[in-house]
Amino acid sequence: MAEKITAYRFDRLDQTLNQLNSEDCAIMAGGTDVMVLHKSRRGVPPKIPKPVVFIDHLPELKQVYRNHKDLHIGACCTYGELLEHPLIPIALKNAIQTIAAPAIRNRGTLGGNICNASPAGDTLPLLYIYNAKLQLHSVSGIRTVAISDFIQGPRRVNRLQNELVTEIILPAVLDDESHVIFEKVGNRNADAIAKVSFAGLIRVSKGHIDDIRFAFGAVGPTMVRSSQLESLLLGKTLPLTQTDITQVVTAFDKIINPIDDHRSTAFYRKKVALNLLHYFLSLKHDQPNQ
Ligand SMILES: Cc1cc2nc3c(=O)[nH]c(=O)nc-3n(C[C@H](O)[C@H](O)[C@H](O)COP(=O)(O)OP(=O)(O)OC[C@H]3O[C@@H](n4cnc5c(N)ncnc54)[C@H](O)[C@@H]3O)c2cc1C
Repeated sequence: MAEKITAYRFDRLDQTLNQLNSEDCAIMAGGTDVMVLHKSRRGVPPKIPKPVVFIDHLPELKQVYRNHKDLHIGACCTYGELLEHPLIPIALKNAIQTIAAPAIRNRGTLGGNICNASPAGDTLPLLYIYNAKLQLHSVSGIRTVAISDFIQGPRRVNRLQNELVTEIILPAVLDDESHVIFEKVGNRNADAIAKVSFAGLIRVSKGHIDDIRFAFGAVGPTMVRSSQLESLLLGKTLPLTQTDITQVVTAFDKIINPIDDHRSTAFYRKKVALNLLHYFLSLKHDQPNQ
């Protein structure tokens, strides 16, 4: 006989936080990762070892709004909802379009992609270059943490048992003049997990690079970004010289350490990652697209 699962679905956020504070529970947003993690034989319900708390219906986790130039995105906004929202940056929509297929995009959430902390999570390279901050709520209050401090390794995040990620904040992303790109390399254009992904942001002011950031996905345990290498290009004029491009690409060659797995080889991943970086640094970037 199938084992019973205890499940909670509270109307309010404070009730949900009280439950998380009183018992170790599995948080379920869209469930598209949770259900795969606990999948069982066909016809047999998943075996989830803890009580489940549903959060996908809580209004506080479903809002998208502007606070000056910052964009706040509720952790439980589904990909489908974000694709329809006028405030979501085009580059993030481009990344979302590459995720799974519409059925998963109608359930999967941005907060779930972050908390699942897969090295191949498609929104993560962009969230790293947007310097995303996460707001976590618990019965003790609210804390804000940078995404690069929150994600600690594959499926490992800096979250206490009683905390819930409620919002993703993209600082100063609205009305920004940056050019942002996202590239994903997989077996096909849709419904494929990334072998390599890349996000790049550049802002040019009076012909000089004012801000430049880039991050890689699926080539290490977490997203790979180096502010130190980015700073080498600040103040340079476009187009960058081959010497500047080669200096940065060669430096990344030393810090990218992908693995072989069933999706790809370390050799292929590194080669493609460095090609994507070369491509990004060679672009003219004359059109902001935020
Ligand atoms: C067929 C299929 C295809 C897929 N394709 C892709 C793809 O192309 N690219 C990609 O990146 N991903 C893909 N995924 C993975 C998945 O859809 C995404 O990671 C999605 O964003 C997860 O969101 P969710 O709401 O379903 O998370 P859930 O499964 O509900 O949760 C994931 C994890 O995060 C925790 N969690 C969720 N929300 C919160 C919160 N607010 N606070 C604290 N903890 C939380 C949960 O406890 C769990 O540990 C695919 C999955 C499937 C099944």
